[in-house]
Amino acid sequence: GQKVVLITGCSSGIGLRIAVTLAKDEKKRYHVIATMRDLKKKDKLVEAAGDAYGKTLILLPLDVCSDESVKQCINNIKDRHIDILINNAGVGLLGPVESISIEEMKRVFETNFFGVVRMIKEVMPDMKKRRSGHILVMSSVMGLQGVVFNDVYTASKFAMEGFCESMAVQLMKFNIRLSMIEPGPVHTEFETKMMEDVAKMEYPGVDAETVRYFKDVYLPSSIDIFEAMGQTPDDIAKCTKKVIESNSPRFRNLTNSLYTPIVALKYADETGGLSVNTFYNLLFNFGPLMHITMSILKCLTCSCLRRRTVSPN
Ligand code: NAD
Repeated sequence: GQKVVLITGCSSGIGLRIAVTLAKDEKKRYHVIATMRDLKKKDKLVEAAGDAYGKTLILLPLDVCSDESVKQCINNIKDRHIDILINNAGVGLLGPVESISIEEMKRVFETNFFGVVRMIKEVMPDMKKRRSGHILVMSSVMGLQGVVFNDVYTASKFAMEGFCESMAVQLMKFNIRLSMIEPGPVHTEFETKMMEDVAKMEYPGVDAETVRYFKDVYLPSSIDIFEAMGQTPDDIAKCTKKVIESNSPRFRNLTNSLYTPIVALKYADETGGLSVNTFYNLLFNFGPLMHITMSILKCLTCSCLRRRTVSPN
């Protein structure tokens, strides 16, 4: 029969694409429950789903930050039966830490960390009873490697990686699989908008030197990297489908081979010196040439490391 897939954060970006890709599966293997906080934002998804809407794809409201909303959504599903849970909803946060209030930081953790925990807590008991299920989490390369000026976002993804790495052990005992998807940069409206907003913002309370590093050094190279190395939401959806359809899905799934060297630095030097120094040089010594440097790094990294990504094709 069809597998029931529940996806969070489907009104835009990667979540929307995953929902549509699975709903349009040629063999109609998936019954997609595409969820979003606010159903008023459904138009883009409905349009992209086309004929699949109302057939292999249905909509339900779900806010990952609300116990009540999560419970209500899951209770509305027949027998609370979910075969595949895709935790996609997430928010970004960029900028010098001095300019970000603790409240704002907590909001990021509320969505990116506690949102995922809340979903897993609600869905896991039923999966355990049935001794089957697959839980996927949209992590990031930033769940594995710290990135300057993304301090809090990175921390929220690290928190989730730690939680999931721990959970994976007991879930395996119940035949439940857990997979992290770790994209590098992905072109979404969200990213472009965030970059524009951030460039315009004033940063009261932050020293001029830091603001300059952020606006004149970090932002241009970051935009450069997005352009040179970014994947599309469709690429990530294809990678995610592959992970779902694998006979033995892996726990970690980087989607962009250009990023494996970055992650490898960490394992090559357990003192952390190599990765911190490399990032320092990338930002302050190479600046806008960052992507060229990354390409050289890529060539220098052995092919066995590169093969460990899941490719969209
Ligand atoms: P996006 O902003 O288009 O998608 C995020 C979705 O989550 C939105 O639809 C938003 O409405 C939803 N959302 C936010 N808070 C929610 C809540 N409380 N309840 C339910 N839904 C909520 O951006 P995206 O790039 O498609 O992001 C999807 C995921 O991919 C995120 O977890 C993000 O961290 C991750 N990711 C993005 C990139 C990138 O470069 N864009 C890279 C790696 C990982």
